Amino acid sequence: MIARWREVAKAAGMQMKVLVEMDGEKVFYLQKRDRLASPPVYLSTGVHGDEPGSAWGLLAWAQREIEQLRHGNHLIFPCMNPHGLRANTRLDRRGFDINRRFHIDTDPLCGPWLDIVKQSVPRLGLCLHEDYDAQGFYVYELNDLPKTASYDILKKCAKHMSADPRRMIDGRRSRDGVIRPRAIPTTLPGMPEAIVLWQLGCPFTLTFETPSEFSLDDRVRTQADFVDAAIRLAARTSNHQP
Ligand SMILES: [Zn+2]
Repeated sequence: MIARWREVAKAAGMQMKVLVEMDGEKVFYLQKRDRLASPPVYLSTGVHGDEPGSAWGLLAWAQREIEQLRHGNHLIFPCMNPHGLRANTRLDRRGFDINRRFHIDTDPLCGPWLDIVKQSVPRLGLCLHEDYDAQGFYVYELNDLPKTASYDILKKCAKHMSADPRRMIDGRRSRDGVIRPRAIPTTLPGMPEAIVLWQLGCPFTLTFETPSEFSLDDRVRTQADFVDAAIRLAARTSNHQP
């Protein structure tokens, strides 16, 4: 996977840098050389290692969107938890759920992540995950738009599976695979990536989940379709952003 991301970076004229090296293992990110020129599109995955469809899905999207990467401004974290991906575990090598630690500026992984993100706060944040309880794809939407954006995005993701039909997902109300809280939760035991991005000023974040018990090929394609549709919709609605 690292070798393929290197090929993407080279073809797209992006820099692939080491975010941190912990216990001999490197965590990489990709950015444009002149990334401070405009707020980037933020893309991340591999936070939970037992969600490979999202990590391979982001790579699949990037491999087919070299021209977009070349001409746009993207900040990409292609695998935040490489140990977990290899070991098929949610937790990282330290035994932590990284997605409860993004607010901790003294954390050896999330501290450097915060430094990078704060340099130029993204205009769109996409956080890619999978869920073994899911019965289809679903998304958790955070933004100030008057109209929920995800319904239009999810329509473009339904080639290989459908939206999760459940009315309650992880204790939150869901409709046609869309969870959109009226109030941003700020009293969680640990802060997920999307909420920290929001708190840093990113006006539009989406956390996308595919069902990890479904076919890997279908999950990879669905993740790639989601990234494509979300970026296109965000570009169309950017005039309405606060
Ligand atoms: Zn996850």
